[in-house]
Amino acid sequence: MWQLRRDETIGRNWKALAASLNVSNHFESYKQVIDTGMPLSEEVPKAYDASHPTWIHQEIVRAGDGISISVRDITQKKLAELDLVLREALLKTVTDSIPALVAFVDGDQRYRYCNKTYTRLFGIAPEQVIGRNMRDFLGEESYAAVRPYVEQALQGQAAAFEMEMFLHGSQRYVEGRYIPQQHADGTVSGFYVMIWDITQSRAREIELRNKVTQDAMTGLLNRAAFMDILGDEIKHHYLKRQALALLFLDIDHFKQVNDTLGHATGDELIKIFAGRLRQNVRGTDHVARLGGDEFVVLLVGLDSERTAMAVVDKLMAAVCQDAKLSGERRRVSTSIGVAYAYMPDITPERLLEIADEGLYQAKAAGRNTYRLMRVG
Ligand code: GH3
Ligand code: MG
Repeated sequence: MWQLRRDETIGRNWKALAASLNVSNHFESYKQVIDTGMPLSEEVPKAYDASHPTWIHQEIVRAGDGISISVRDITQKKLAELDLVLREALLKTVTDSIPALVAFVDGDQRYRYCNKTYTRLFGIAPEQVIGRNMRDFLGEESYAAVRPYVEQALQGQAAAFEMEMFLHGSQRYVEGRYIPQQHADGTVSGFYVMIWDITQSRAREIELRNKVTQDAMTGLLNRAAFMDILGDEIKHHYLKRQALALLFLDIDHFKQVNDTLGHATGDELIKIFAGRLRQNVRGTDHVARLGGDEFVVLLVGLDSERTAMAVVDKLMAAVCQDAKLSGERRRVSTSIGVAYAYMPDITPERLLEIADEGLYQAKAAGRNTYRLMRVG
């Protein structure tokens, strides 16, 4: 260890030798053994060189009026230990700082570990989680929701889920993973839990989905998009002192088509009807499907009620043509409620209600007709 020959060592003064080799002289330890007679076993740094740390393990026992010292280089073992400590610290730093709940649950479904995120999100300390049973910690309802995944993980299969969960006082949308801790012999001693709170991104997703403006079946505007446009057009026509007309259409006896020719043929008629509407108004007018067999048309920039009624007549004639459905010629007709407004000063919802009222009257009058409602 010290690169010395036996004859270079024997007979030399220990203190002087240690000093010349620049190794630490554990004189206090030796003295203690001589004084007390008790052997000493200790791990000490060999040299105080921070760039090349080395450790020794020394055993000092009294031998006669002197001492016997045996020294072993334990640097490798020490470095391995240090490495482990560093790795544990790294793991802890990482798990504590990621924005996910990380935990370990054992085979009895008790939390054995949880990261700091539990404290950050719920204000609960690890001590309040560790040792607790999952059912007890999550509450009956949330536990019931995750239970199948818990069982799956404890059987050695990773589980992934997305769900709404009531977590310590608030409704959250979470994405979760349970990863089994499986040993070489196949036994499972528990599973790691990773839970991400995706409530916010989920809300954005829903918002984006709602922003989709098309009705999937017909390619017309959908209700949400139409209502937005209607709001804008109402303001515009008020400011420009112009008139608009909102037409609310509902196919007559549509259920009969569904019932006699099937739902798919019903869909076919909805598409034909949508096409007829779109082809018989101007490009600047707006056509939407509200759902089912209900449609709306917004005629913009009208100069008079007469013009509006001329368009309604034209639409009636175009839409109420026979259609070939599943090889059968079918009569098609519609009822329409027309809300005509000059300089509209009204909410989109109210205007739609008025048109709907007109539609109701047209249906009540025997269908295949329209009713005009003047607004304001
Ligand atoms: P009315 O003359 O009073 O309008 O009678 P109707 O038979 O047309 O009845 P109503 O308008 O109240 O009902 C429309 C039906 O349209 C109800 C529903 O079963 C059906 N429906 C709704 N959405 C769809 C769809 O996307 N496709 C098909 N094929 N049918 C639909
Ligand atoms: Mg109908």
